[in-house]
Parts: sequence; C-alpha cells; structure tokens
Amino acid sequence: MTSPCQQIHVTSPLLPSLEELIPCLRDIWERKWLTNNGHYHQLLEKALGEYLGVEHLSLFTNGTLTLTTALQAMQIKGEVITTPYSFVATAHSIRWNGLTPVFVDIEEKSCNIDPEQIERAITPLTTAIMPVHVYGNPCDIEAIQSIANRYGLAVIYDSAHAFGVKVNGGSILNFGDMNSLSFHATKVYNTLEGGALVLKDHHTKECIDYLKNFGFEDEVTVVMSGINSKMDEMRAAYGLLNLKGADDAITKRKRIAETYRTLLRDVKGISYFDDLPGVIHNYSYFPVFVNEKEYGMSRDGLYEKLQRNGIFGRRYFYPLISDFSVYRELPSSAPERLPVARKMSKQVICLPIYADLKIEEAERVAGLCLKNLKK
Ligand SMILES: *Cc1c(COP(=O)(O)O)cnc(C)c1O
Repeated sequence: MTSPCQQIHVTSPLLPSLEELIPCLRDIWERKWLTNNGHYHQLLEKALGEYLGVEHLSLFTNGTLTLTTALQAMQIKGEVITTPYSFVATAHSIRWNGLTPVFVDIEEKSCNIDPEQIERAITPLTTAIMPVHVYGNPCDIEAIQSIANRYGLAVIYDSAHAFGVKVNGGSILNFGDMNSLSFHATKVYNTLEGGALVLKDHHTKECIDYLKNFGFEDEVTVVMSGINSKMDEMRAAYGLLNLKGADDAITKRKRIAETYRTLLRDVKGISYFDDLPGVIHNYSYFPVFVNEKEYGMSRDGLYEKLQRNGIFGRRYFYPLISDFSVYRELPSSAPERLPVARKMSKQVICLPIYADLKIEEAERVAGLCLKNLKK
C-alpha cells in the first residue's frame, strides 16, 4: 500500500508564497476594506486583464455564478445549445435561468461541441450557444460565430479550462459575446474559489458590475434585480500573488505533458491530443483515451490499476451531463443522439498534471500505462 503522502492526484493547487501573502493580509486588515470593489479587487482586475490580453473583465466569486450572470445580463430566453461533455455547472447555469439546455454531440478530434450539430439543433426557441473549450482545446470558433451570426444567437463561452490559451497570438477569450473563467482551486490558476467574466466593452462591464452587486448603481439606486457574486479582498490579494507563478506553472505542466506524450506515443489503444499549430496551450489537463479492444484493458481497468498504485486519475467527463438524473429526461439527452460524446466519455481518463508533479512521478504514471497488459 502506498501511504497517503505518496498519493498522486490529477491536480494540486498552485499556491502563492505565505511570506508574501501575510503582508497582504496585514494590509487588508489595516485598510479594513474587506470586499465591494476594494484595493486588491481593482488591482487584480487590471493585472488579469493585462496577463490574459483582454480589455474588460469583471471578477466573480466563482465560475458558476459567472455563467449564470452572463445569461441574465444578455436576457437569454428559451433554449441554449450546449455540450453534454463538460462539468455539470455548464448546464446548471442554464437551468438556473429558467432556460432549457439542448445538448448536441461533440467532435472526436477535440471533444468540443460539433458546429454541424449546433446548426441542426436550432429551433425558433433557440437564443444562445454555450460552448466549452474542453481541456483548453479551442472550439471551432469561426464556425460557431458564423452560425450565431446567421441565426442571430448569442455566444457565451464557458472558458473555465482556457485560462491563458491563445490562438494566432491573441487571447481565446476575445471571441463570442462573453467568456466565463473559473479560478477554482483545481484549475490552472486559482483564487481558492473565484471566476471572471470577460466582456466586449465598457458598457457591458458596467452592467455586469451592477448585476454582481445586487444591481446597485449607487447608494440609493438599484437598476437591476442583481445577485451577490462579488470577489472579496482576501481572495483578490491571493490571486494577485498567484498570478506571478502562472507562467512558470504552465511551463512546468508543459514538461509533464511532453513526458507523457513521449512515453505513451506508441502504446496501442491509447490516444491523446497533441499541441495544435497556432495555439498556445495551458496544459490544464492531460486526457488519454483508452480503446479497450486495442489496449487490452478497459478504461476503468486502467483507472483502478492506477488507483491501486496510489495514482488518482479523474474520468473527466464521465458521466455525461445528459446522463445525470436531473437532465436525463430532456429529449436532447437521448443517448443515440450523442454517440461521440458517449464514446469519449467511456474512454477518457485524465492523468495527473500540475506544476509540482515531478518528471519521475509522471514517468511512473506512464510506466503503469505501458506495462504489458495481456499478461
Ligand atoms: C470548474 C468549471 C466550472 C465551474 O466553476 P466554479 O468556479 O467551480 O464554479 C464551470 N465549467 C467548467 C467547464 C468547469 O471546469
């Protein structure tokens, strides 16, 4: 048995140094300004905007309320076309607005929503598309935008996995009408819990800033029925410090990804994504897909084998959102409509990848995937 200390999980949070954090906390205590667009909140909005290469960004308390608030702000009605191959919060945000999620199938080459399937699912009730850049792999942005333009639909990206991802030199967060980020502790960059909405213009940011603060425009004026989804000063200060380590963390993750790719390159029945030309990746996940027939062992067999060796992979995304009891009854959840999503969901296992995972540890993980299976 491995001791709990030797256990390796899929992710491990990036932490700022305590030596730097403590003076920040002292400063917050001295200012006695704990939340409501304080000093650190303003600094983090500015720093993140610069880091990510986006102009208008509003901080949130998590990445679920960003999605929920985005749909509110755009006054989306009726049906929203989305992917079943995501974290359940994507669909929940749609439901929490009294809307109907319409699931469509994904593309095998990226695990992202299939634009052709989007077009087929459009009805007179459709008003928006909510795609997800799964694992930080860019969606087919151009095809999605062209459909949205043709049918007059809003596009709200769930970019929870796409922190720092760039396409053709620019941030991926500049596409669509709004982009939602999550800074949960398990993500590439975290503020413990947190998130942000990336917006197109100053006016929209102002609207979002009111919405996340009960709709207050000033002390005596409420202009919208808003919610409370603001980020507080402690997490903003933590986030500001953590941002300094973000590039280094991504570089280290890249090395882990390269190690896995090199070692698993010729394993029959195991496939994974390579880097795409023109894309700067963030290596947020390292999914491998197990073809049971070729590999000689099922995905769950490998999952359990790793677990017996103290390595805790995650089956992201399994089950599909459309298979959870709360969504199963929707017509778009019918299994025969989602063959690719179903297949990928049955094959996927995300291997451990994080900044302080040692190369030797990644080699051990890959080694366990390599061992002669049939014997
Ligand atoms: C993490 C995640 C969310 C939710 O973000 P929270 O900050 O945990 O609320 C939404 N969508 C996807 C795809 C995610 O991975």
